[in-house]
Amino acid sequence: MTDDQHLDTTAITAGRRGARGLSADISTSTVWSSDGLSATHDEIVRGRRGKAYSRYTNPTVRLFEEAVAELEGAQDALAFASGMGAIATVVFALCSPGDHIVAQQQLYGGTLALLAGPVRRMGIDVTFVDATVPGAFTAAAKKARTMLVIAETPANPALAIADLDEVGAIGAPFTLVDSTFATPMCQQPLRHGVNIALHSATKAIGGHNDALLGVIAADSDVIDAVWAHSVLHGAAASPYDAHNALRGIRTLAVRQERQCSTASTLAAWFATHNDCTAVHYPGLATHPQHALARRQMTAFGSVLAIEIEGGPEACARFLQAVELVRPATSLGGPETLACHPASSTHHGLDPESLSASAAADGLLRISVGLENPADLIADFERALTKSRS
Ligand code: PLP
Repeated sequence: MTDDQHLDTTAITAGRRGARGLSADISTSTVWSSDGLSATHDEIVRGRRGKAYSRYTNPTVRLFEEAVAELEGAQDALAFASGMGAIATVVFALCSPGDHIVAQQQLYGGTLALLAGPVRRMGIDVTFVDATVPGAFTAAAKKARTMLVIAETPANPALAIADLDEVGAIGAPFTLVDSTFATPMCQQPLRHGVNIALHSATKAIGGHNDALLGVIAADSDVIDAVWAHSVLHGAAASPYDAHNALRGIRTLAVRQERQCSTASTLAAWFATHNDCTAVHYPGLATHPQHALARRQMTAFGSVLAIEIEGGPEACARFLQAVELVRPATSLGGPETLACHPASSTHHGLDPESLSASAAADGLLRISVGLENPADLIADFERALTKSRS
């Protein structure tokens, strides 16, 4: 890759290591034999650079990691069995009892549950902040105690935007941004001074709903530190999923271009619809943080949220009425999906955390796929009409 190569070209060239095969081989072996005790020992000692056991490293997974590192402009990357596997491993790799974490209150429900439950139970203090308040992350950071800052932008479920420059400038040892909604095509957190960019690659990076995968991109010393813990935590990525995600990366740029464009069209359409009481999309001029989103994103992502009157009952009628759109809780794939976060992705949170996360009763999250926008509009029109009665 040359320094001035464009990102859409990098999506094609990344993670190939000069291989002649245009599709990566799937390395299915969980273990490699060696020439005896000392050779096995040598491979184990070489750790991630050795070839001994697939929980330590796997050639197909490694290609996927190298591709993501290139797309994020990072020295290295590390893959995990899922996005949650990535988040949990990072937190427990980097934090110890007595440490403090500043985390955004608008996060994926699983991340919120992890931080409020197991992380606090291990004696790690967590302060949740409203990412839409300028300076909130900085104000909550405690000198010599805050080990990790966690942001997600654009965020579940109502597309709050965290200021990447603010997060990147916090003096904490580690800052992490979950950039799943944006993908490396729309924003690159490391360019803003953030230490770790994280993705649920299950979503748009994999892009076809056939890979469960998480990944972080960061400097090599950070990746090495997390890797040393990850082999004990055990959330190792599958080579089959890594292969699927590598294939997904080849089309990531064109998929994102189309999905972001359709999301903009739909957001503008919902905004004029009488049955929508609110539309959340960072690309809309009415989004309270539109200016910030413009500063740090090159496109505004494929996820939006709408609010309708009538609470969960109306949302249930909406999800019953859609015919083209699928009621499902993931995002970033070719099929347009809709879900009701308060009862799905954010289910089980206490009422205070649920309300702080902005998962309102009448809010529907929509992941925009690759269908023709006119067909989607027809389907949403029908669903909005049926949501009323
Ligand atoms: N981060 C975000 C922003 C998500 O939306 C999700 C899942 O929806 C996750 C992390 C968790 O990823 P996974 O389902 O791959 O564990």
